Amino acid sequence: MWRDTLARRLETRRAESLWRNRAMYRPAGDAGLVGNSRRLHDFAGNDYLGLARDSRLAEAQAEGARRHGTGARASHLVCGHLLPHHALEERLAALTGRPRALLFSTGYMANLAVLQVLGSDGTQVFQDRLNHASLLDGAALAGARSRRFHHADLADLERLLARARADVPRLVVSDGVFSMDGDVADVAALATLAQRHAAALVIDDAHGIGVLGDHGDGSVGWRHDTRQVPVLVGTLGKALGSAGAFVAGDDLLIDALTQLARPYIYTTAQPPGVACATLRALDILAAEPERRRHLQALIDHWRSRGAALGLPLLPSPTPIQPVRLGDSARTLHWARRLHEQGFLVGAIRPPTVPRGQARLRITLSAAHDRDTLDDLLDRLAALAAEEAS
Ligand SMILES: *Cc1c(COP(=O)(O)O)cnc(C)c1O
Repeated sequence: MWRDTLARRLETRRAESLWRNRAMYRPAGDAGLVGNSRRLHDFAGNDYLGLARDSRLAEAQAEGARRHGTGARASHLVCGHLLPHHALEERLAALTGRPRALLFSTGYMANLAVLQVLGSDGTQVFQDRLNHASLLDGAALAGARSRRFHHADLADLERLLARARADVPRLVVSDGVFSMDGDVADVAALATLAQRHAAALVIDDAHGIGVLGDHGDGSVGWRHDTRQVPVLVGTLGKALGSAGAFVAGDDLLIDALTQLARPYIYTTAQPPGVACATLRALDILAAEPERRRHLQALIDHWRSRGAALGLPLLPSPTPIQPVRLGDSARTLHWARRLHEQGFLVGAIRPPTVPRGQARLRITLSAAHDRDTLDDLLDRLAALAAEEAS
């Protein structure tokens, strides 16, 4: 019985061009991969600053493992909270201009924790329609129903907040940088609106940390203080090239998460060497601003040349540069053709994005150079021309 049910569900996925293939890769050079014995330029990962293969991070991780152990041996509250974890929390609080930060093993778990704790007791949760899946799953864990407002539509959010019950807490939740679109939330306006309606505000800045802000402090960082954005989530496996995540905020928030969040309490702390690698990544973030400058120059170049070639770009000022194609089969076809030509790009289809909005998700990195970008742009233009003829 269960086998038939599973087989039917999988068959539907396949029939709708939604089957996901898990390929296997190994690194080749600074921004390259080998997959299926083909050499590929990586335009699909989230290694925005090119740190994931920096040998200094690898050395810090190895040294951290030698000194502190390969594994943390226990959860933070038992005896797994080690010196590098603590040092990293202090550095992340300083980076984001918050009193404190709490380390998690993944961003998925950090979001489950935040929503489980802040979304409980009948709290009304308001989420941008394009928020990351982990934020929606967290609300489900809290037993809260998420009301979803139209993407980046503050008037729609205001309408929902105005109609909300007055006698229960309210929580507004948004990505800082939207992971499949690359656009940046209007954090200042969200903060004003949340304050006016006595709602707490959560910003998940997974793709902003390390990339945006004057010092890589993200889309929130020092520009919006703890009063404006009381709950800030960041991840460490994207621009910072390592793994893990954090929640930053004041004492009350961090104490509440530490005491109450099941995804914090019931899991082993991340390996201490990983925290050492992230500490090294933060040193490099501060010492080598040229990485962020080079990335910004690549983004500007991609957008101006992509627009000149007539590609269907989305309004994204970040390294996430989608090319919206609409149809899932068409998106897969383009991604396959690019793969044959040595370029790996994401083929993003429902349910990750809404129906009819399938796209190539192309991500830029400081490890790329301009010539490779031009090469990819030309190939995209050629695919468009081929379709038109
Ligand atoms: C990647 C991502 C996460 C999850 O972070 P992991 O560390 O990969 O689990 C959470 N939120 C957003 C917006 C993300 O893009």
